[in-house]
Amino acid sequence: MAFFPKILLKGDVEAYLRGVYTNTQIVATLGAAEAEKKFDRLQNHLAHPPSFTTVRVNTLVTSVENVKELLKEEINKQYPGTNIPVLQHPKLHDLLLIPVIGPRRTLEQHSLQVIVGAQCGNAVLRGAHVYSSGIISASKWMKSGEKVSVYSDIEGKCKRGAKEFLGTKVFIGNGISELSRKDIFCSNVPVKGKGIRMTEPVYWSPSFDGVLPGSVFLQNLPSAVVSHVLSPQPGERVLDMCAAPGGKTTHMATLMNDQGEVIAMDKISSKIEKIKCNASVLKLTCIKAFQFDSTKAVATDENAIKGGGPPFLPGTFDRVLLDAPCSGMGQRPNMTCPFSLKEITSYQPLQRKLFSVAVELLKPGGTLVYSTCTITLSENEEQVAWALQTFPSLQLQSQEPHIGGQGMMGAGLSPEQLTMLQRFDPSEAELRDVDLITLTSMDEAAAVLANKDTIGFFIAKFLKKK
Ligand code: SAM
Repeated sequence: MAFFPKILLKGDVEAYLRGVYTNTQIVATLGAAEAEKKFDRLQNHLAHPPSFTTVRVNTLVTSVENVKELLKEEINKQYPGTNIPVLQHPKLHDLLLIPVIGPRRTLEQHSLQVIVGAQCGNAVLRGAHVYSSGIISASKWMKSGEKVSVYSDIEGKCKRGAKEFLGTKVFIGNGISELSRKDIFCSNVPVKGKGIRMTEPVYWSPSFDGVLPGSVFLQNLPSAVVSHVLSPQPGERVLDMCAAPGGKTTHMATLMNDQGEVIAMDKISSKIEKIKCNASVLKLTCIKAFQFDSTKAVATDENAIKGGGPPFLPGTFDRVLLDAPCSGMGQRPNMTCPFSLKEITSYQPLQRKLFSVAVELLKPGGTLVYSTCTITLSENEEQVAWALQTFPSLQLQSQEPHIGGQGMMGAGLSPEQLTMLQRFDPSEAELRDVDLITLTSMDEAAAVLANKDTIGFFIAKFLKKK
């Protein structure tokens, strides 16, 4: 049985990613051994959660200090006696960080075993309990109220309802069963709800399900940087082209003091409800959400414009965010990548179509931010090189705050251009050398760790010249 392996990648996907991290320019600069070491670190870190869980405070309804105290109480309830600290990010005034403690390698494993799907396993590593729908197999005699060990089926080979599983499985912690095997697999109507309450997860990471609704929003650190980089101002008209579930939309509206207009679009109608729901919970009124294919969002004549919604006339937004659909290879923890190479490399054309619309809808003098939660060159630096060549009106801008690394070599961008890009790359994360549980304030070492050991992410900022 594997204990916290690297991310499991299909052969061709691994070769593709290795090619990105050991491209000619990187090898010429760092040397082959160092480039290979970075790729190894990447695979390792992708399988593990980031060092900190980050929550954004809704500063329009409460103060960061107040939320910090309430979160401390909540975490103490969830993990009594652990004294896990809550820290304020030194550069992001609205972001609180909670250290993720682990991996705890010495936990005793029980004879009763529960196997969960890889997605469910990833969620457990970020503080979730196990819901019955995520359980694939449970030991023959499992009753409610028993101590069980939980494993993730990272290769997806366990058969639903199996009584034991001898394939590759990764231990993710211990818990107490709240349902019996019979409830989950043998009744005509499988019982829904919590199946295993995790009591000893391999990573201690508090659950924020239903915690301080309206006051906090669970958001990865780099995602919270994006809206600060775009820096929308009160009274402006801002477009979020790929907005669901609305993490960045609601952040932008908050930074704008809920004054002005944030237009949020997403192609999938069910996701629009999620944006509206998040806006309503966070008490934000300046957001208007529309189900729309953003590749078609430019109106060709004034008659096509309807009631404030898409399509829109060219040059009518002060700022545009394109948080593009992407291969998502930066997500963490991710013990296995289920996607084929074809899927992973399929996003570039769609991102370019969306980018062209973003440029057209932006006012001259306006700001465009392009971001992805992936680590490939083709969806990040190559897109920037393409954009600068295709749209002479665009000028690459430096970013504030800039707390991630710089852009990756290999896409033909100059060293100066690379410094203007912000790449959060898990290959940059070092092993944890800070005792996270004893932190009382965000000292420099912890801040560096927090900024480097994040999900993989990319941000580019452009100005449309007048
Ligand atoms: N910005 C979001 C946030 O911070 O919560 C996350 C956005 S997610 C990376 C990308 C989104 O793009 C998905 O919700 C997907 O449905 C949407 N999408 C994909 N193709 C689209 C299109 N052609 N037009 C509009 N939205 C699209």
